[in-house]
Amino acid sequence: MTTLAIDIGGTKLAAALISAEHEISQRREIPTPANADPEGLKQALGHLLEPYQGKARRVAIASTGIIDNGILTALNPDNLGGLNHFPLQATVEKLTGLPCIVLNDAQAAAWAEYCHLSSRFKHVTFITVSTGVGGGIVVNGELLTGPHAFAGHIGHIQADPNGPICGCGRVGCVEAIASGRAIAAAARHDLQGKNAREIFSLAYSGNLQAQQLVTRSAQAICQLIANLKALLDTECIVLGGSVGLAQGYRQQVQQQLAQLPAAFQVPIYSAHYQHDAGLIGATLWSEYHKVKS
Ligand SMILES: [Zn+2]
Repeated sequence: MTTLAIDIGGTKLAAALISAEHEISQRREIPTPANADPEGLKQALGHLLEPYQGKARRVAIASTGIIDNGILTALNPDNLGGLNHFPLQATVEKLTGLPCIVLNDAQAAAWAEYCHLSSRFKHVTFITVSTGVGGGIVVNGELLTGPHAFAGHIGHIQADPNGPICGCGRVGCVEAIASGRAIAAAARHDLQGKNAREIFSLAYSGNLQAQQLVTRSAQAICQLIANLKALLDTECIVLGGSVGLAQGYRQQVQQQLAQLPAAFQVPIYSAHYQHDAGLIGATLWSEYHKVKS
């Protein structure tokens, strides 16, 4: 059965057709409306999905934010302009006339990575380090979503009680220290105003401040992994996102983790699905839940 998969992120909206064999075709991408008020997002989705009419039998959505019973709420107002209680599932069902399932994007990616590794592991934790920091947790072959769909929002675990205020309103979250946005925000002097990509590139060419900013991010992710090992006894960590997949970043996290006691050691892999993890994960989730028209 062909699935229309949609990925709703802070900067772009992506859609594609996913075949029963999980091949991706007719991928389209548009920018997320800068002011994502409910009407703006509805119009953008209408524009994105129009060419897919009649080409799929169900819709699977991965979206940033908290997805509770098909309703989208942005936890960090910097992502999606603070959309509050947007009826995502109902809106897309109305636009397409198809049954639809919605999942948080990091939870979807975690499910995709778990399905890829499921012959070897039953306990997998996915961490995405990108503009923000997110995650998804699979325990004993089940994705943890929680009663309010909040499970796995590991970017909002506290890393430093004296750290910067996070976009969610809490002080010193992992996201406020390790994310691409946080790396850029902490830059001073000649690096002020540069984005995370530019700072990574300067770090490779030997800029000391850039290297320190990357190391500070990797340290926060290393400590997060140690905390997750203690909490969940997860069998492996999968690292994704533009920062998580940046050259040398995973190795730096691994080197720091290796300094900790043996009980905290856990293998760390790079994400298999990379940029299509949301689209594939949401599709796999719709198959798992047997969503059909
Ligand atoms: Zn936070």
